[in-house]
Amino acid sequence: MDYSARKFDNAYLSTEIVLIFKRVVSMIVAIASRNGDKAVREALRILKGGGDLLDAVEKGVRLVEDDPADTTVGYGGLPNLLGEVELDASIMDGATLRTGAVAGIKHFKNPISIARRVMEQTPHVLLIGEGADRFAKLQGFEETNLLTPEAKKRYEDMVTGKAQLYSEAYRKIHGELLEWYKKYIESKSDSHGTVNLIVRDSEGNLAVGVSTSGTALKMPGRIGDSPIIGAGNYADKTAGAAACTGRGELSIRICLAKHVVDLMRQRVPVQEACIDGIRKILQLNDPLGGGMNVLAMSRTGETAGASTAAEVFYLYQDEKLSEPVRKTSLQVRV
Ligand code: ASP
Repeated sequence: MDYSARKFDNAYLSTEIVLIFKRVVSMIVAIASRNGDKAVREALRILKGGGDLLDAVEKGVRLVEDDPADTTVGYGGLPNLLGEVELDASIMDGATLRTGAVAGIKHFKNPISIARRVMEQTPHVLLIGEGADRFAKLQGFEETNLLTPEAKKRYEDMVTGKAQLYSEAYRKIHGELLEWYKKYIESKSDSHGTVNLIVRDSEGNLAVGVSTSGTALKMPGRIGDSPIIGAGNYADKTAGAAACTGRGELSIRICLAKHVVDLMRQRVPVQEACIDGIRKILQLNDPLGGGMNVLAMSRTGETAGASTAAEVFYLYQDEKLSEPVRKTSLQVRV
């Protein structure tokens, strides 16, 4: 569909005006991926108490990173092929378009906070690997062994009897490993995951935080979409904000979060923008498959989600609600 050709007819404009009047006054809203219950509650608590938008995003995401029961984010995250945890995260301030990200963090449990420091304390946007860990240390973050006993056990269970094959395949990733990996990705819904948190304050500013340990048994050094601005995360208060979970290799290829935000800039309704983004993912027809989910919020605080899968939900809370509620992400088929 060519959205740039969209007509600004009277009916459309009046709907827009009503929406803006309804929302623009003072609607605090937070949405998160399904594992972001704590994050949404914390963001609302901070903003309702008059706190700062970026604090709301950072502190909300940190709670998920700190929780070892979430095996896809932060402490206790999914190990790579060599049994090491490597964390990625990004944060974006939709008021200024400032952003910061880190990838391949091995020794610190709160990559979202390190990403924020990259944004605020350095002239850079993205730090990776050793340099990112070194920066975190210099900034005074406390070193942590990210591999919990549970994550270690899971890793050992995953590679049982095949450790040799995998480590060989690490040196030469094709053939058997690729076949195995394909089956693994298709069969394990718990083989990857990410937390997304999108927040709007009462002034209409938007910010997004994303954090993940990536895909289980990824090749060491693999970076997904979460720290890639425009792919896993984007926010611009003049248009909207979006964030993704799912197989990052797909969203990177179409800059999914930015694509959705760009559609909202053209006044495409948030739900339609998400659907269009997921449709583009499906059109990649990637031979390895893999699912994708996108969450978005318009500049006026309307929210939506879309997914390649059925029964996906996201969490929503605004200032009138005492706790997050589930909202359905629309399943998209080609
Ligand atoms: N998007 C993450 C990545 O590719 C993983 C996920 O959300 O499942 O690293």
